[in-house]
Amino acid sequence: AAMVKETIRVYARVKPPGRRQQAGIYSVDDDEKSLSSLEIIVPHDLADGFVNNKRESYKFKFQKIFDQEAKQDVVFDSIAKPVAECVLAGYNGTIFAYGQTGSGKTFTITGGAERYSDRGIIPRTLSYIFDQLRKDSSKVYTTHVSYLEIYNECGYDLLDPRHEASRLEDLPKVTIMEDPDQNIHLKNLSLQQATNEEEALNLLFLGDTNRMIAETPMNQASTRSHCIFTIHISSKEPGSATIRRSKLHLVDLAGSERVAKTGVGGHLLTEAKYINLSLHYLEQVIIALAEKNRSHIPYRNSMMTSVLRDSLGGNCMTTMIATLSLDKRNIDESLSTCRFAQRVALIKNEAVLNEEMDPKLMIVQLKKEIQELKDELALVTGKERTSELSQDELLQLDELIETFLEDNDPDSTLDVGADMRKIKYCFVHVKQLMNHSKISDKKLLSQHISEEKDTNKEAGEEELKKLKELLQQRDNEINILVNMLKKEKKKAQDALFQLNAASAGSTVLEQSHSINLEESQSSSSCFSLKEAKDFSSSVHRLPFLSRQTGGKMSLGCQEAFEVFKRDHADSITIEDNKQLLNQRFTEAKCLGEKLNEVRNKINHLKGEINQRHVQRAALAISSPSEELYTLDPVEEKLRTEIEEEKKRYKTMFNRLKGLKVEIEHLQLLMEKVKVKLQKDFEVWWSEESINLQQENPEMVSSPNTTTVYPRFIKSSQHLSTSSFSETTRVSPNEDPAGKNNSITSNNPTLKTRTPPISSTSIPLTGDSQADADILAFIKARQNILQKKGKSCQ
Ligand code: ADP
Ligand code: MG
Repeated sequence: AAMVKETIRVYARVKPPGRRQQAGIYSVDDDEKSLSSLEIIVPHDLADGFVNNKRESYKFKFQKIFDQEAKQDVVFDSIAKPVAECVLAGYNGTIFAYGQTGSGKTFTITGGAERYSDRGIIPRTLSYIFDQLRKDSSKVYTTHVSYLEIYNECGYDLLDPRHEASRLEDLPKVTIMEDPDQNIHLKNLSLQQATNEEEALNLLFLGDTNRMIAETPMNQASTRSHCIFTIHISSKEPGSATIRRSKLHLVDLAGSERVAKTGVGGHLLTEAKYINLSLHYLEQVIIALAEKNRSHIPYRNSMMTSVLRDSLGGNCMTTMIATLSLDKRNIDESLSTCRFAQRVALIKNEAVLNEEMDPKLMIVQLKKEIQELKDELALVTGKERTSELSQDELLQLDELIETFLEDNDPDSTLDVGADMRKIKYCFVHVKQLMNHSKISDKKLLSQHISEEKDTNKEAGEEELKKLKELLQQRDNEINILVNMLKKEKKKAQDALFQLNAASAGSTVLEQSHSINLEESQSSSSCFSLKEAKDFSSSVHRLPFLSRQTGGKMSLGCQEAFEVFKRDHADSITIEDNKQLLNQRFTEAKCLGEKLNEVRNKINHLKGEINQRHVQRAALAISSPSEELYTLDPVEEKLRTEIEEEKKRYKTMFNRLKGLKVEIEHLQLLMEKVKVKLQKDFEVWWSEESINLQQENPEMVSSPNTTTVYPRFIKSSQHLSTSSFSETTRVSPNEDPAGKNNSITSNNPTLKTRTPPISSTSIPLTGDSQADADILAFIKARQNILQKKGKSCQ
């Protein structure tokens, strides 16, 4: 098989700074032809504290360095596209991002949650791969995706649609199994089939949302866990038993930050330890791989290194992106990221074309071939070679021979069918008859027959021998394959289980309610954007949102959420995206209308051509002339017009398709921001509740205020699914100006700490939980208004 030996390609990407621009910390020497180099300059004031004060600048080589202004499409084109191409050709690929928390790993791998143009490597790769698959009709492709999160040496399946996790522990646990050939299998990781870009993106968003929901401030999953999104592709030429399988891992590693050992002056950096133990093991693996003559590579020390074993020094084309957040505070982390990258760049991988025979298919093919051979054999030898002809058959044959011999018609034949036994019997019988009579022309006949018989027999026997040999050969092959299959089956039991789970699971994701492009081509239908516009349709696609909503959200909580939503920074993003979405809808609608126009025009032109045909046919009858049999210039003109309209139709149609993808992406982005908003609110809400309880324990009759939090998780989702499409709506309980309330932003008393309103002035419900909510809300509102008051001054 084809093999590509290559060292791991290592790129660097520098994140744009937050607010303060710091010049002179690093410089990039970008050489188009060879490697680029990154120089990190350690400021004098820092140089003392760590590393070695004799050096103040460090140089690192990278395949290419993407500086602050590099856009996502450029990063995709140079880093991910070549890998995606290899994966399409049947090689394994891995792209992993390594860097400290906040340096842009997730931004690079998955993308930003705000703008469509911010989508990262995963969605762009999916889009690219499905585009390529569509273009290649020479093979049959199957694609699956999986999404694994590893936290604390435990794997979790982010794509299992049966689970509606609100905590990481609720997700199905994935474990590693190693077969006798030391291949790694991931038990419980579902492989979801994705037949197109849209399905794959939905799965990605499902996983990303599970990833976000599962995260609590306690476990800090996003900085402490590794996430591996994998695209599995298999391809086969029609009719062939050879299958190519390849995997593309897109990996967002845990933050690489370290803790420095305190109290060891001067050598803090070199003694610093990873916060995340598995990154320590990753480094061990990298070091071992870089060493020559090292036979044992400690992959098994952690789940992450086990899962990525092939990506590191194995059968894979691997690429690393070192993400850097290059400001003063992060110089030590950036240096260690770069050092790690330099080591990784030494590792050699050997990617082989993953071709295998499908034993099942092979057996089917061989069985067919054998049947054909048997038929052929039967034709030459007679069907059941072992058994004798029955008495009836013999009598029948005698009769046939007699009739044949008595028939004077020179054209008469003796036809006993393609059965060697019968043919042989006939010869024997005729021979006997011949021996009994001495008639000369009968002799002649017999001679003629026996000659024929000899040649026939010779040829037949030779062929028989050949066919028998072939049959033997095929039998052996089948035996071997059956054994192979048995072995394979044992090995693949685990994989098969996952496949089953996947096929069962994939039905859960509903077919999306999208603009039906196929339908739009038929002449009668029009574009229906209504469904696409109905935001709730995209909500149905994400099962976690449609989960049971349990109890209702209390009034206070609801109102607080509205206020929170308004003041939250993300609401701007939501509004922006909403506007953009509306714009796109209008565009799509407009395009749809135009498409209909063009279609009508085409139909009209077709009508004209038909009319023209009828006219000319009538003319040909009434006054025939030569001219009528030549090409009709008018018709030609109409045809060119149709062609042009068709071209227009096609371009518009493709644009509409692009719009559709963007619209769907925007909807999912909004969904994500929204979930994040809820989570932020939940955290804020429980904090507020606790504060309230601590400050005024007598006000809260509920002994356990923190229970507000879990109750809210469910109810807020209920609220949002129904009201998100109208975020601008003012809730009936809302008092945006705060005019009717004694707590207003104009109230100067609020700028100092005011005691909570006494319980008599607000309509308490008597339900202790609801009352706690209301009180918490009022308190929260005071805080918000106070903050607003301050910022206004
Ligand atoms: P990590 O995953 O490494 O912890 P993130 O990808 O979450 O880091 O990035 C941290 C923040 O910086 C996010 O708000 C992200 O949107 C932003 N960010 C990162 N890289 C870029 C970039 N290249 N351009 C713009 N914003 C970025
Ligand atoms: Mg991250």
